[in-house]
Amino acid sequence: MADTRYIFVTGGVTSSLGKGILASSLAKLLQSRGYSVTIQKLDPYINVDPGTLNPYEHGECYVTEDGAETDLDLGHYERFLNEPTSQANNVTTGRIYQSVISKERHGDYLGKTVQIIPHITDEIKRRIKILGSKGKYDIVVTEIGGTVGDIESLPYIESVRQLKRELGSKAMVIHLTLVPYLAATGELKTKPTQHSVKLLLEAGVQPDILVLRTEHDIDKSIREKVALFCNVDLDAVVQSVNVPTIYEVPLKMLDEKLDITVLKKLGLDVNEKIDLGAWDKFLTRLKNPKHAVTVGLIGKYIELHDAYKSIAEALVHAGSENLCEVEIEWIHSETLQPDNLHEKLSGLNGIIVAPGFGHRGMNGKILAARYARENNVPYLGICLGMQVAVIEFARNVLNLKGADSTEMNPKTPFPVIDLMEHQKGITDYGGTMRLGAYECRIIEKDSNVCKAYNKLTVYERHRHRYEFNDTFRQQFTDAGMVPVGVNPETDLVEIVEIPTHKWFVGVQFHPEYRSTVLNPHPLFVDFIKNSLVKK
Ligand code: GLN
Repeated sequence: MADTRYIFVTGGVTSSLGKGILASSLAKLLQSRGYSVTIQKLDPYINVDPGTLNPYEHGECYVTEDGAETDLDLGHYERFLNEPTSQANNVTTGRIYQSVISKERHGDYLGKTVQIIPHITDEIKRRIKILGSKGKYDIVVTEIGGTVGDIESLPYIESVRQLKRELGSKAMVIHLTLVPYLAATGELKTKPTQHSVKLLLEAGVQPDILVLRTEHDIDKSIREKVALFCNVDLDAVVQSVNVPTIYEVPLKMLDEKLDITVLKKLGLDVNEKIDLGAWDKFLTRLKNPKHAVTVGLIGKYIELHDAYKSIAEALVHAGSENLCEVEIEWIHSETLQPDNLHEKLSGLNGIIVAPGFGHRGMNGKILAARYARENNVPYLGICLGMQVAVIEFARNVLNLKGADSTEMNPKTPFPVIDLMEHQKGITDYGGTMRLGAYECRIIEKDSNVCKAYNKLTVYERHRHRYEFNDTFRQQFTDAGMVPVGVNPETDLVEIVEIPTHKWFVGVQFHPEYRSTVLNPHPLFVDFIKNSLVKK
């Protein structure tokens, strides 16, 4: 529609209040009332994308269908909306400056002095409006990363100010803040909210709606006070109380009528019928499990659970599907040794070896793959987790001493995992991996994977440089680790399986990126199903 509406979500007081979840939840409600919605994230850092960032800094790097390496919030957007996002849905300051500077070098500014206002803000506004201009979306929700008052976010807030002026009632701002509870006096405090709204006002932006994160219900008198001090309508003061699962937030926002307030302010019709049936069903199953499993997630960034966000969420989706409570045991790969393996792994019903880069923690991952293989424990190896399973099999079943990935040991006598041909000679790190969705054909109809997917052609997202080395394919197949999925164009091996094992699957791609509330990923669902049977 030509009249796309824009909703900006800003944050105040502190980071980590859950702007991404709020944006996703609101978008879900608007979608459920019949509107087409997409969500965009503007990140104020100078990296061009988070692809080169250490997960300890930034959590998981999420990959879209079109191969963009993006902020993990895009994962939430897809999991909630069940719609793919793209490169245009994540913009960083680095990318904005990169375009402005390359236009300057190209002479596009005709000798003018290039400045933050208007050149940087124009580029920001262009990136915001790109999504609306496609004619696909009624509403674009744009989440501004960081907290109001940060130096880095100033150009974004300024762009929001300009857009509100340009678009009038077709744009609005939702500001998320914190109302802390002081146990000593037993009070909820609104002053931080007032201050943070003041900061926004100083930048010329009057928020239309305030969402207050709180640990206790906020009563009418506090809402009235906030409305008065912050210059918003009473029904535009909304509380967001802590809930046990992020998937309950849309329902909480529905109770607060956030979606209705938003639609009215944007001059859009409020469709009385709201279709949240499948969402409710998912939540009911999630909250009433009949089974339980413990899954070991083995990786080297375990201290920061956000580094494995999509895997953790895919397990929640698969758990709900199986009426099964999934407990994740976060196991640091560097802590695994031959003499503590039994102690650390014997309580697990299933093992996932996570994606990763570099050799730190490799030995522990290889030990975990071996333990799963030898003890018939369901195993899902994702990307590096698949490569680890291949290396382990080469060393301990094929007896190829010193077999390795050339990423870990470039001089290995048996490079069972090797650099892809077109990767050789690439020296830049940013955006140069095999990225995004590729077709994979399942070639073994009897495989667990084929049964799980129940189809022969699938599309999955990639993020890697190294690959199963085809020279060893026959040797692996003969010894019982079978390539069951390949890329139809290149014949690259994408999935391996051990048919004699209960459920042992290694995938070169990242199934976790495609798991959503309404479409739990079949491989995770089948992995959990087979893990719980064991109990
Ligand atoms: N480091 C491996 C590669 O580049 C695996 C990457 C990953 O697990 N995402 O091939």
